[in-house]
Amino acid sequence: GTLPGWDRVEQLVREAYERYRGHDDGVVADYIPVLAEADPAWFGLCVAESGGQVHGAGDEDVEFSVQSISKAFVYALVCEAFGHQDVLDRVGVNGTGLPFNSVMAIELHQGHPMNPMVNAGALATTAMVPGATPAEQWEHVRTGLSRFAGRQLELDGVVYRSESETNTRNKAIARLLQSYGRIEADPLQVVDVYTRQCALRVTARDLAVMGATLADGGVNPITGERVVSAHVCRDTLAVLAATGMYERSGEWLFEIGLPAKSGVAGGIVAVAPGKGAIGTFSPPLDPAGNSVRGQRATAYLSRTLGLNVFASS
Ligand code: GLN
Repeated sequence: GTLPGWDRVEQLVREAYERYRGHDDGVVADYIPVLAEADPAWFGLCVAESGGQVHGAGDEDVEFSVQSISKAFVYALVCEAFGHQDVLDRVGVNGTGLPFNSVMAIELHQGHPMNPMVNAGALATTAMVPGATPAEQWEHVRTGLSRFAGRQLELDGVVYRSESETNTRNKAIARLLQSYGRIEADPLQVVDVYTRQCALRVTARDLAVMGATLADGGVNPITGERVVSAHVCRDTLAVLAATGMYERSGEWLFEIGLPAKSGVAGGIVAVAPGKGAIGTFSPPLDPAGNSVRGQRATAYLSRTLGLNVFASS
């Protein structure tokens, strides 16, 4: 592979774990009530190479809800179904510079959702998922994300219900998009499918394999299954580079140099095209909603494994 040898990657993953496990900056999300019950000490990381080798450390097998990381993979499924131009026109690819659940960003752009990694754009994307009914759309999402992970992913019913009872803002965003003619389906049903996709249970290892599938041009390196086309991976990674880490996307790209996506339960996936991916999990977040230990561990691994996409050597 293009990464250092097996022993060296194993060693660096263990080092990243030891180096940052004691760091306790950041705050566990509580706007979805059940997320506040997460243990702030949880810390897992995993590197999946495009050849299929997997290296983990710490709580790599602890399950948590995928949350906004689902946006990247649902986007890929929708790009696969609709193609480059349609999705570009309807969802966009430019950053908002505002928090992920900003209503102001929608108003500032005459109802345009701007990009698929903020909630407005993610809702517009989920509205496009193939299926005659919301139940079929949900099945398409769950099956698609499971193919990225190479195993059957399940809904966390507790997280789903907790978010469903409190997601008034997402319902407002969906209504607002409807008012601008950006969502044709029933907005509350779109929010329901979106809330389910966010409540899928994954591990840091799953995130690494899902990311490595994008790194590998759409073929899952463990199962060998083609999930999406290479074009779709390229488009998805471009969007992640521009917008995957919310309003911190520029700083992230400057410091770490990898397309990535975070979620408020504490997951991050970072993708090194052609090489593999890093999945991390640790619940305490920075103010933008990105896991603090996850960012540090990913930065360390990007540097020591030589993954920065802008580096010439
Ligand atoms: N389900 C969460 C929400 O819509 C996801 C947000 C996130 O992970 N940033 O608020």
